[in-house]
Amino acid sequence: MGTLFMLFSPPPPPPAICTTKKSSLSPTPSISSPKPNKHQYSRIQSSKFGNFFDLNPEPQPESFNFDLPWLDPTSERSHFDVIIIGTGPAGLRLAEQVSRYGIKVCCVDPSPLSMWPNNYGVWVDEFERLELEDCLDKTWPMTSIYLDENNTKYLDRPYGRVSKKKLKTKLIEGCVSNGVKFHKAKVSKIEHKEFESSIMCDDGNELKASLIVDASGFGSTFIEYDKPRNHGYQIAHGILAEVEEHPFDLDKMVLMDWRDSHLGNEPYLRAKNSRFPTFLYAMPFDSNLIFLEETSLVSRPVLSYKEVKAKMVARLRHLGIRVKRVLEDEKCLIPMGGPLPRIPQSVMAIGGTSGVVHPSTGYMVARTMALAPVLADAIAECLGSTRMIRGKALYHRVWNGLWPIERRCVREFYSFGMETLLKLDLNGTRRFFDAFFDLEPYQWQGFLSSRLSLQELVVLSLSLFGRASNMSRLDIVTKCPVPLAKMVGNLALETI
Ligand SMILES: Cc1cc2nc3c(=O)[nH]c(=O)nc-3n(C[C@H](O)[C@H](O)[C@H](O)COP(=O)(O)OP(=O)(O)OC[C@H]3O[C@@H](n4cnc5c(N)ncnc54)[C@H](O)[C@@H]3O)c2cc1C
Repeated sequence: MGTLFMLFSPPPPPPAICTTKKSSLSPTPSISSPKPNKHQYSRIQSSKFGNFFDLNPEPQPESFNFDLPWLDPTSERSHFDVIIIGTGPAGLRLAEQVSRYGIKVCCVDPSPLSMWPNNYGVWVDEFERLELEDCLDKTWPMTSIYLDENNTKYLDRPYGRVSKKKLKTKLIEGCVSNGVKFHKAKVSKIEHKEFESSIMCDDGNELKASLIVDASGFGSTFIEYDKPRNHGYQIAHGILAEVEEHPFDLDKMVLMDWRDSHLGNEPYLRAKNSRFPTFLYAMPFDSNLIFLEETSLVSRPVLSYKEVKAKMVARLRHLGIRVKRVLEDEKCLIPMGGPLPRIPQSVMAIGGTSGVVHPSTGYMVARTMALAPVLADAIAECLGSTRMIRGKALYHRVWNGLWPIERRCVREFYSFGMETLLKLDLNGTRRFFDAFFDLEPYQWQGFLSSRLSLQELVVLSLSLFGRASNMSRLDIVTKCPVPLAKMVGNLALETI
């Protein structure tokens, strides 16, 4: 019933997707543990054991000290080839890539020089392939997965934390050297004529372009859908914390800790966790500095944030982690899966609003970095110096450039993965990942990094079934027929 209701109810209002606060005590720390000065010590208090909610960081916006080429709407002709709404990772990457072709680009954002709020993790090889490895500020040679108290897997695949500062600086430098203009405003409306579109900004300015690209993130209202938006949601609460100590190895990033012994004295939470499990994601920077995030991989409807936080408190207490200072905290809510935007439509999209979030994991940064050049290529084919393709032909070309049939089919498969995960309880999830990480490395790595073709995904599914325990096979056979039928139906529709 719940699922049916979600399918036919209107999409929820755009959620406040992420709030990240930074401590007034310290800027974003680099990798070594921050050493507070004398004045700061006077403000430090230790949390009650494990409960860090009394240590609320004060918001402190960080800004880049960059001399951006601002648009002067009074003296310049405000017509561009491309206007990009939003200067998050997606918007800036596309601006940097598309401007390489000599295409005239303007980026519009209320705060183009603010530090991005989220803490991004990626697989190191993903950034190496893109020659962005210099934008990681910390890497771990291995990752660990705690399936339960007695079963831990170690993955021989390095993981990294993105240096938001380095990545944003690199992208902005590229934009500046390619002549991208910036305008500081919020876009409130988009209008279209046959071969030209215009944006209305909250400062009263109107800017025109042949193509508008929406990179304003998950909360966007500019992109249209023609199917019910039955997303799953990843919800998480994360803190970058100075702690007295923690039990994790410094050379291993903890991708997922599914242990639940911390809920032994919490029968209500334990029962809920058995059906709607959450795990801990942890990046240990040193013995006193760690990023900790209690995460619901995917749920529908979205899990209660309060519950996620309560489980995190119990977990940290059980692990003996006493938080001394919260340097940053973040609330994460990522819509996953669901239908793609209507293809084509007059506004192009990239990033959170374009459907590129991995439907089974919620990851997106590396994929957006990889797909922005593909989209830039498609735009250049239409708007490059020798071409003059505008209007409907342009929209058709760019949407199909980002989402060719093969990529749409592959996404259907990943969405099937998400639908399967939605049906698994804690033990089912553990069994699933036990078999999943026993697959050939190219299979599980390719799946997590969206690198597999449809044929490879079919082979992966068969191998997974072959390696799964009998209980896991029973899970698949009893719980997957409906999502499987849905996927086959959608694949048929895509390919007709
Ligand atoms: C807390 C959190 C943690 C995440 N962690 C990871 C991770 O570890 N790894 C990973 O791969 N993915 C992660 N994701 C998923 C995804 O990569 C991020 O959400 C990513 O920030 C999306 O990038 P974006 O550029 O599409 O949008 P955003 O980063 O949301 O940027 C959107 C930009 O658009 C601007 N904007 C919004 N509305 C307007 C408007 N009307 N006019 C003008 N500008 C506007 C905003 O000011 C903002 O600058 C995380 C998401 C969240 C919420």
